[in-house]
Amino acid sequence: MSFFSKKENPAPVAQTPPVQNATSPLAEMVLANIHDGVIITDRAGTVQFINPAAVTMIDCGSAQNAIGLDYGLLMKIESKEGREYPAEENPLIQAMNSNQYLDNCEVCLIVGQSGKRVPIAVSVIPVSGHANKVITFRDIAKELAEEGEQTEFISTASHEMRTPVASIEGYLSLALNPQTATIDERARGYLNAAHAASQHLGKLFHDLLDVTKLDDNRLRPHFEPVEMVGLVKQISDGYIVPAKNARINYQFGSNKSNSVSEVRRLDQVVYGYVDVNFMREIMDNLIDNAIKYTPAGGSIYVNVLGDGDRVLINVTDTGMGISSDDLQHIFQKFYRSDNSDTRTIGGTGLGLYLVKQRVEAMGGRVWAESAFGEGSTFYVSLPRITGEEYEKRMIAFQNNFNQGVIQ
Ligand code: ADP
Repeated sequence: MSFFSKKENPAPVAQTPPVQNATSPLAEMVLANIHDGVIITDRAGTVQFINPAAVTMIDCGSAQNAIGLDYGLLMKIESKEGREYPAEENPLIQAMNSNQYLDNCEVCLIVGQSGKRVPIAVSVIPVSGHANKVITFRDIAKELAEEGEQTEFISTASHEMRTPVASIEGYLSLALNPQTATIDERARGYLNAAHAASQHLGKLFHDLLDVTKLDDNRLRPHFEPVEMVGLVKQISDGYIVPAKNARINYQFGSNKSNSVSEVRRLDQVVYGYVDVNFMREIMDNLIDNAIKYTPAGGSIYVNVLGDGDRVLINVTDTGMGISSDDLQHIFQKFYRSDNSDTRTIGGTGLGLYLVKQRVEAMGGRVWAESAFGEGSTFYVSLPRITGEEYEKRMIAFQNNFNQGVIQ
């Protein structure tokens, strides 16, 4: 059977009410002239209608060649990165087999018999009251190329600007140091403000560079077997002094709900397979935020637990909390909640986006629970490995390390 040959005993086109008949002339004209591909299927996934843009993108010659075929024969996809999907992970199959919407999912379309890969954004809309499904898709090659150019520009600009900013910061530190400069109190005030601004700028360029590297897969995790409680404790204990300076109580190894007498000593040994530098950046961001968004007198709690086959880390604070509206967006690039409490607190809105990218690159998940005015808890869940796996991977890791192989 050739790629576009019909199913055995296809439903004769005349018996299935042609969609054209069910649409108004105006709708037909729109469907015939838009650049997005549109396919309408029946309950069984058989193509009932296909517009000219879809015919061209799929390269099936004509609408008549496609009508009566199973949509899966026309819409073969793989992941954006060129990975073949197992059926249970194929977003198109999953949406077609359920009553769920699929919204602008970025994948690669494998075109006709040429096998050419075209990046598309595909949506599936279940038609209410019918078993029909509408599949729409558009070519996003140009958008991705433009995004790539933009990323390249931001990456180069951030890289180039980091050097002069570091130099400004260095000179301001010298000016503020009583051993290297003499300044009056008014000048100290101005220079302190300039120093804080240059540190903010330096952080912005650092984060922007990381965003571009993570977005185009240049920053990949280097996994190693790690005992997670020890690692997370070592990173978070670096915040004992900053927390004390902010007059915030810090506890490792407990949750907010544990009263002091119930604080559970963490003698549990939990193994993971993670990138240690990624873990450092993730914990730094979460604890930095916990301190930043918690007024003096508050508390932060950091905990690590083995939860079945997952490692569960939580960073809890008793700070200003996040409204439910903001909670849906805080992991997006550049999102900052805007209220009278947060307005005076500096930030780039990139920290949590970077946390999410790094956690997901290690096969994990991050989420937050919070209510405005009632503190927040950020959870990071990562794959856990057994003690036996840890030993095995440790031997392999050390062998690779000795041979200079970076994973
Ligand atoms: P920022 O640099 O602004 O802190 P993030 O991406 O780290 O950027 O955080 C995004 C937004 O989420 C912040 O602007 C803040 O409004 C909110 N947020 C993050 N962590 C907390 C927290 N622990 N408590 C309250 N709000 C938080």
